[in-house]
Amino acid sequence: MAHMPLTEWRCDKCGGAVDAHNGWVEWESGSVFGPRNFHIVHNSRACSFHDSSPLRKDCHIRDFLGVEGAHNLQALVQPPSFFVDNFAGGKWQQPDLREFYELCRRLQVPYYEEARPYFNVAYSQGEMDGANETTISSPDFCKRIYDIYGE
Ligand SMILES: [Zn+2]
Repeated sequence: MAHMPLTEWRCDKCGGAVDAHNGWVEWESGSVFGPRNFHIVHNSRACSFHDSSPLRKDCHIRDFLGVEGAHNLQALVQPPSFFVDNFAGGKWQQPDLREFYELCRRLQVPYYEEARPYFNVAYSQGEMDGANETTISSPDFCKRIYDIYGE
């Protein structure tokens, strides 16, 4: 059967396969600062990075997939103004955008999750020559890297 992107991820803790049924996105977030320390993990204490943190938040991977999932991700990074003004007293620190958009690509861009373990070797072997910041996160580019290096 052909590989289906956006159906399987690598657990950031144990490295095992995670899917929409057993996978979680976890992060830390306070009342006035945006989410940070994102991870994709199994739904188990053993794989949680923030199990003992009072700031720990989590959500099923499936809630961040597809069009509705993209909306949920956007609301996570910047809540509606009403929320910021009334729930956070007008104070809301942006999350770590670099980390946040890496999570978004892993959950929304076909073949990004599959290709990312091979970026270093692809770079060293010249497969990224001529690529730019848009190219290397495009589904076509990621599929090509996965087709060359993926097992
Ligand atoms: Zn795990």
